[in-house]
Amino acid sequence: MKNDHVLWEPPISAPRPLSVLLHNPPLTEPRMCGVHGAYVAQCHFGTCWSRCPTCAAADRIDERQREVRAAQCHVAEAWQRRLGRAGIPLRFQDRTLDRFVVTHVAQERALCFARAYVAQFDQVLTTGRSAIFVGKPGTGKTHLAAGIGLALMARHYHVLFLTVLRALRLVKDTWSRGSEWTESEVVARLARPDLLILDEIGMQFGSRTEENILFDVLNERYESRRPTLLISNLVVDEVRDVMGERIWDRLREDGGDIVTFDWVSYRGKL
Ligand SMILES: [Zn+2]
Repeated sequence: MKNDHVLWEPPISAPRPLSVLLHNPPLTEPRMCGVHGAYVAQCHFGTCWSRCPTCAAADRIDERQREVRAAQCHVAEAWQRRLGRAGIPLRFQDRTLDRFVVTHVAQERALCFARAYVAQFDQVLTTGRSAIFVGKPGTGKTHLAAGIGLALMARHYHVLFLTVLRALRLVKDTWSRGSEWTESEVVARLARPDLLILDEIGMQFGSRTEENILFDVLNERYESRRPTLLISNLVVDEVRDVMGERIWDRLREDGGDIVTFDWVSYRGKL
């Protein structure tokens, strides 16, 4: 007797073997590409026909170029993040040593110093040999210092660039209640980079407290043989006065170099 509740049952059929869908040899058919004209399309499997070979090749090249662009973008973004962390000021982020304009022999000497400092940086790190750039504003001191920093960053050294006022502020901020950092943590942070570039030496108040902070930072760096590059618009004797004898002696002890930028302003010549 027929069961009335079962209205319909799907027919039981065996799954089609893959070999049924494979065309061997492949099917071929003349087709027309709107851009490249006639081509022979092939079908190896099911109803999947090949596209115009020229269009397909162009798509593969586009895809490859997209991948290359994405990779370049990724590298550029990573470099921008490193520049941000290194604190290189925005307008100095493209001031490489190669872009330093040399018009006379004193500039050539300064540039040679910068190139040698970068080239010998492994050795610089064994002695902690610091350097001081002094000279009038607009003579390219910050450009050369940034150029050194950028060249070292490209060689994967850790560089930190900041004004002396900012460095002092970072330390002084730890004295306020609720500060996220302790003073020794900030000093350690300033002591850690392979090269610390301190700009605008002489812009600080020159108080005993500031001298002590600077001494702590530079002494910590000195102890771990890490060099510091100081930049100042003052003349050498004035730099020594604002830094204090102790710091000055520390800087000079390991053969720290003084590079004098004694030519007229260079701004506007870039
Ligand atoms: Zn085509």
